Amino acid sequence: MTNSRKVDWPEWLPIRSELADLTPYGAPQISGVTALNTNENPFAVPQEVVEQMLSRLPKVLENLNRYPDRDANLLREALANYINRSTKSDFSISNLWAANGSNEILQTLMLACGGRGALGFTPSYSVHPLIAKATGTNWSEGYRDNSFEIDMDKATAQIAELTPGLTFITTPNNPSGTATSFADLEKLALATKAVKGLLIVDEAYAEFSAEESAVKLISTYPNVVVVRTMSKAFAFAGARVGYAIGDESIVKALLVTRLPYHLSSATQALALVALENSSLLLAEVAALVSERERVARELSKLGFEVVPSSANFLLFRGFMGGSPEAWKSLVDSGILLRDVGLEGYLRVTIGLPIENEKFLAAIAALKP
Ligand SMILES: *Cc1c(COP(=O)(O)O)cnc(C)c1O
Repeated sequence: MTNSRKVDWPEWLPIRSELADLTPYGAPQISGVTALNTNENPFAVPQEVVEQMLSRLPKVLENLNRYPDRDANLLREALANYINRSTKSDFSISNLWAANGSNEILQTLMLACGGRGALGFTPSYSVHPLIAKATGTNWSEGYRDNSFEIDMDKATAQIAELTPGLTFITTPNNPSGTATSFADLEKLALATKAVKGLLIVDEAYAEFSAEESAVKLISTYPNVVVVRTMSKAFAFAGARVGYAIGDESIVKALLVTRLPYHLSSATQALALVALENSSLLLAEVAALVSERERVARELSKLGFEVVPSSANFLLFRGFMGGSPEAWKSLVDSGILLRDVGLEGYLRVTIGLPIENEKFLAAIAALKP
């Protein structure tokens, strides 16, 4: 894989010593293949939504001489409304922050509150430790067992011992797809609160899951911050919109470390249209969930072992050969999956039915 090569920095480059061993994040972007490797939503933005976006653009374009609304007020209000509707909550704009993808939210959070270090339960989203390193945040690893579950006694003991400023939990987890129960999230909220730390719940795939959202913990545990994205469920990855829901004081802290005018007026306008059409865009989520169940059943029938998923992807094992060899053999058949670095596993994003069929046909050749 391309990302295993260490960078050979020129001697004159004053790169921070703690970053010298890092390589850029990146999944291969190969053209001409069926890409089921980055958990994108395969459905294009519906034509009627595209039309509405186009009708908003002239005003945005004429005003490009002006900076955007620095605090993205209309967008944050629309996001608060969306969260309130979908989780039966009562948040206001002062509980919401928006940025260029949830990755930017995570970075802004680490810049603001990472002073005492961060803890995450691996295997999980590899960008969390990457942003930690880039922001000079000390990173510690907690563990998941062979079924990707977190032992809550061990986790809460670790939180008490390390007293991290930030504890990350991804649910549904990437790359496993497994969800952490609301009861366990509450245990983590309590343990992090006891050490005056934040619990960052990365809910990038929340809309694909039946589990209750951690936003329900915020009123009791103001140290809980929920991070979400429009990249997956809203089929909006190219626009780059992520957001955080939390106590007012957390939003105030994020305002200190965000870059001025970070979210372009075009992004804000397009995201508003997407949110106005949320029921239309989210209708595709149900289709993806039922495809996920179908693909999981088919993989099991072929003899593969599939990790139960609450997201828009499946982690599975049981194919012939190692992950890199199976990955390569699938690329040769025109299917791009993700080798997430877990021995014996590959991850497949749920695509359109026709893409899933191609995948199933190709993987059948590698069945155990
Ligand atoms: C895809 C993903 C994100 C983020 O993406 P953005 O496109 O930056 O919003 C965040 N967290 C997890 C766990 C993801 O899988």
